Amino acid sequence: MNHSVPEQPADVVARLRATFRTGRTKPAEWRVAQLRRLRDMLTEKGTDLAAALHADLGKSATEAFRTEIDFTVREIDHTLDHLAGWLRPEPAPSPAHLGTDVTVWTQYDPLGVVLVIAPWNYPAQLLLAPVVGALAAGNAVVAKPSELAPATSAVLARLLPAYLDTDAVAVVQGGVPETTALLAERFDHIFYTGNGTVGRIVMRAAAEHLTPVTLELGGKSPAFVDRDADLAVVADRLARGKFLNAGQTCVAPDYVLTDPETAAALEPLLANAVKALYGSDPAASGEYGRIINERHFDRLTGLLDSGRTVVGGTSDRSTRYIAPTVLADVAPDAPVMREEIFGPILPIVTVPGIDEAIGFVNDRDKPLALYVFTDSDETRRRFADETSSGGLGYGLPLAHLTVSDLPFGGVGESGMGNYHGRYSIETFSHRKAVLDKPLH
Ligand code: NAD
Repeated sequence: MNHSVPEQPADVVARLRATFRTGRTKPAEWRVAQLRRLRDMLTEKGTDLAAALHADLGKSATEAFRTEIDFTVREIDHTLDHLAGWLRPEPAPSPAHLGTDVTVWTQYDPLGVVLVIAPWNYPAQLLLAPVVGALAAGNAVVAKPSELAPATSAVLARLLPAYLDTDAVAVVQGGVPETTALLAERFDHIFYTGNGTVGRIVMRAAAEHLTPVTLELGGKSPAFVDRDADLAVVADRLARGKFLNAGQTCVAPDYVLTDPETAAALEPLLANAVKALYGSDPAASGEYGRIINERHFDRLTGLLDSGRTVVGGTSDRSTRYIAPTVLADVAPDAPVMREEIFGPILPIVTVPGIDEAIGFVNDRDKPLALYVFTDSDETRRRFADETSSGGLGYGLPLAHLTVSDLPFGGVGESGMGNYHGRYSIETFSHRKAVLDKPLH
């Protein structure tokens, strides 16, 4: 479809709903064909997307492919490999009180028209990975990219209609007014990734239509470092996880929690790790990203004096560069500890020991991720059993979200619901209970 005047949200939804009603999106063949087309888009136009991601976030091509484009291709391949099995009706045991001639099973029904609202930090992956799940589950989809990553939003708005079935998939670009208008419509599911303030707006709007929501939110993900850990390995992995995308990653380690002696030993190792990754002048490294906009730049530079600078601390507003920064001697109530950092600043907060570290985590909102660096099975077990978080990573930040067989999502303030792989099918389908008793 080619519209010279942008379609109104109500018309977009009505058009997609009409398509859904024809049954066109339901056959497995349609779903597979759409996923293959999306894969073609990513392999044929990956460089267009990478260029847009560089324009929006200073993302290197290596990082753009690894964390957004190839990431989504892997998610598609995993889905294509398993979809038929996931969609198979699942028999359940029939209880004795119904007699012996009754059979029961569950089947997955698509929900209908789904809205996906994406943020700016991984603006391609976080729009497309939910779209993969929504299409695999047989839905029509309205995709709303983030206006704060305008180059990526424009490329997605150009490419998606060129590759996918435009009667079933629509891209609506825009910011608050356009999203507000979309949210007034009735959807069958809303999948939102972003901050909790807007998450509440989304959920309120969804309540009007009794529309279920998935909220992929953020928060402060702690990294506990035990005194027995190999601190050079810890420093390297923390720095990689934290400073990827200039710290603008929802599951980035937000702060380090450790005892004072371990903190002192870790400080120089973190400084070395930053140097090994980005050289002595990260501003000159092609691998180091930039802050999305001046508002976030100003917010982040306001946090730089929350502690003693171990490494970094410098910034340049004209290029929205903030050096990878580690802060020590940070008070638990310092400004940098009052909000999700979402930038390249790693504070180290000290606690006397493991009991206090677990207490520190439990005194705060449930995080999207929790990282634990330890050699002790007992400490691992204690964090697993005594804390709650969206995901838990021992020894390696971020990687759990790259596993398509694991559900990705938050709990409490870090969100509700989850996706990836078969969990996306759960999210974007209704699991229908079916009972069959022969008439004779
Ligand atoms: P953002 O500002 O791009 O907002 C996300 C989306 O919400 C955008 O599409 C935007 O247009 C829309 N939006 C903004 N204001 C709105 C309003 N008033 N009404 C309706 N829609 C509105 O992104 P952000 O929220 O700054 O993203 C950062 C946050 O997202 C962080 O907290 C981060 O941790 C979290 N995050 C979570 C995940 C996850 O998978 N759990 C991934 C990435 C980011």
